[in-house]
Amino acid sequence: MIEAFLLPYLMNMKRLIFAAFTLFLPFGVLAQDTASTAGYRDYTTAVLWQQHSGEFRALAFQAYNFARLSLVPKIAEASNGKKNCVVVDVDETVLDNSPFQGNEIRNHKIFNQQDWANWTSKGIADTIPGALGFLTFAASQQVETFYLSNREVSEMEGTLKNLQTLGFPYADKEHMLFKTTTSDKEPRRKALSEKYNILMLCGDNLSDFSNVFYREGKNTIEQVDAAQQKFGTQYIVLPNPMYGDWEKQFYKVDKQSDQDKANARIEGLKTY
Ligand SMILES: [Mg+2]
Repeated sequence: MIEAFLLPYLMNMKRLIFAAFTLFLPFGVLAQDTASTAGYRDYTTAVLWQQHSGEFRALAFQAYNFARLSLVPKIAEASNGKKNCVVVDVDETVLDNSPFQGNEIRNHKIFNQQDWANWTSKGIADTIPGALGFLTFAASQQVETFYLSNREVSEMEGTLKNLQTLGFPYADKEHMLFKTTTSDKEPRRKALSEKYNILMLCGDNLSDFSNVFYREGKNTIEQVDAAQQKFGTQYIVLPNPMYGDWEKQFYKVDKQSDQDKANARIEGLKTY
């Protein structure tokens, strides 16, 4: 039992100890935290939205529902003797990498190549909603799927395991068009179109569709406006709030510091 008369004294002691703790002990921790978060690209909300919002799922379903509706007449139109295919990107188009992004955030990182290779080697990504249903439907119509991705060839095994586990059609080496020399997807699209009718392209990044977006120095917004009839019919766009080529416009110089990038993002904001 603590004697009643001792209580005020003990309370004061408690406050003193707490004050000392606040002043000295956490200082290093706070300083480290501040240093590591200076210029930090915080996309926690984006990852949470992809992982937990109904809207993300609904938009993905909407995209693939449109894909299915648009595919049927395209099959009927294609009559030049070539086989038919659809081209899909992999990351954030058929596979959901948000757990990797979550992992990076928890570890105060933005993107670490070794962490990425570790993640893809596990082959445990979930599917983007609607992707499996659409590609299974396409396969039932004798439309093949090609997976056109900028994953490295070294990531092939993990990716195949992932796609096969989820039951994706054409999950074999012949249908994986991974990055070898360039991240530019145009040469791979071109080579494929010599043998196949590419009926449709699905991606979360406009570069998954054509180089007129981002890669040819044109105004991407104007190019999107010019191509507006193709979205939902020829180009199927999946939502990706986490990353994309769209962000590069803010980073004019190579090897900018994280702080410079953070400043450039603030400058890029539209205000009133
Ligand atoms: Mg992608």
